[in-house]
Amino acid sequence: MTQAPPDIPMRALFDAQYQASRAQIDVSLVVRRDRLKRMRDLINTHGAALADAVQADFGVRSPQLTEVADFLVLRALLGDLEKHLTAWTKPQRVKTPLYLKPASAYIQRQPLGVVGVIGPWNYPLQLTLGPAATALAAGNRVMIKPSELTPHSSALLAKLLHEAYAADELCVVQGGADVAHEFASLPFDHLLFTGSTAVGRKVAAAAAANLTPTTLELGGKSPCVIDRSVDMADAALKIAHGKLLNAGQTCIAPDYVLLPRGMEAAFEQAFTAAVQRLFPSIAGNPDYTAILTERHLARLQSLVTDVASQGARVVALGQGGQPVKRQMAPTLVFDAPADSRLMAEEIFGPVLPVLAYDGMDDAVRYINERPRPLALYWFGTDHLACDRLLSRTVSGGVTVNDTLMHIAHENLPFGGVGESGWGAYHGEAGFLRFTQQKPVLVQSRFAMGDLFYPPYGTKFDRVMGLLKRWL
Ligand code: NAD
Repeated sequence: MTQAPPDIPMRALFDAQYQASRAQIDVSLVVRRDRLKRMRDLINTHGAALADAVQADFGVRSPQLTEVADFLVLRALLGDLEKHLTAWTKPQRVKTPLYLKPASAYIQRQPLGVVGVIGPWNYPLQLTLGPAATALAAGNRVMIKPSELTPHSSALLAKLLHEAYAADELCVVQGGADVAHEFASLPFDHLLFTGSTAVGRKVAAAAAANLTPTTLELGGKSPCVIDRSVDMADAALKIAHGKLLNAGQTCIAPDYVLLPRGMEAAFEQAFTAAVQRLFPSIAGNPDYTAILTERHLARLQSLVTDVASQGARVVALGQGGQPVKRQMAPTLVFDAPADSRLMAEEIFGPVLPVLAYDGMDDAVRYINERPRPLALYWFGTDHLACDRLLSRTVSGGVTVNDTLMHIAHENLPFGGVGESGWGAYHGEAGFLRFTQQKPVLVQSRFAMGDLFYPPYGTKFDRVMGLLKRWL
């Protein structure tokens, strides 16, 4: 097996993958399964070292969090791909309409060729290996560009992948924004980008020059809507878990809460109790992830000080003790003005604004006046109210009476809409994202297509007359 020394230029790696993908278009199930198995082996053998590397990247990030949020998701994804691979790969027969019979037709599923994957820093393993595994299952070659902000895990991932795969099967390119731009400018057959909306625009522009189709998994402000019918203690616990997992550095974390006016105090009390239960202490707690860098921490702190100076009430929870690295206390913000930076930017940290609404129309208007969110959460027992909200808002995905969980369901396509992204992956949706669905019609020698051939005359008119009545 050829290795991929880190000094092979990016363009040469791409060219090697491109040539290999064109030389072997029909990628057998055996080859695909073997590529997936090597990914599984890599996680099984080196999971602990990779989790340690992620911990080193963040300063504080529990290996158990990486186990559940990166590896469990990856194992579920790999299992799903392995289970369905045969069915998803084989040609899909389709019904043929009467006027084309006795022809038959099917859809041939073929690899696209070379797929590029650009990853973010927040779940550096799941969000690079997940799309890569899906693209490999679909028979593609894959190049990964992990985040430069997680240097330990990106370097280890590159080393391990280069040991496990030939460079023309799967390889890793490391570097910052310049390298990333060059990477996005390669003429991939498909490019999947996970990251911010601002960088997503640049990726879409670079890919457009090559007519490279993209999947953009972006961010945004995901609302959590609480209904009057809510069980507040249960909702607050689930919101606290979704918000504080990885200290809010999760793309589908609840960004803000919308609740009926008058329920603010009940939420504050229940959320405070929930934080206490999940994280009895913040400072020094190894389960409570640190903010990735000083720059990211300073941005979050400035969001809070700015909104406080605009008159909002700020409640920092879990105070006391000495923060290790950049651990930031969970923070509730009440009455944040709509024009504050806190309510304009994706927060991506443990700060939770709580806004009161007067009636469901008010909540729906607030959501719909803003870019379409990546996720939306609804809490309550009034199913009619839930249906009404879901049918009047558009978001990338929804979990009812919990947070985050729709991402873990392999039969649900995962992705954004509008400014939170386009295209979806996971499960069969992901397999098809990286697949050319080629329609094939097989004509019968008994076909009567010549009825439509010129010269047009009375026979043609009679056939068309009949068809007009049928169709
Ligand atoms: P980012 O956009 O800053 O960086 C993501 C990747 O893009 C990095 O690998 C970076 O090197 C690369 N990049 C930088 N400049 C580029 C350019 N000009 N062209 C091409 N690539 C470039 O995002 P981040 O800070 O790493 O991650 C946080 C963001 O990602 C948040 O907005 C979050 O919501 C989003 N996110 C979305 C999902 C999802 O599934 N939708 C998942 C995780 C994170």
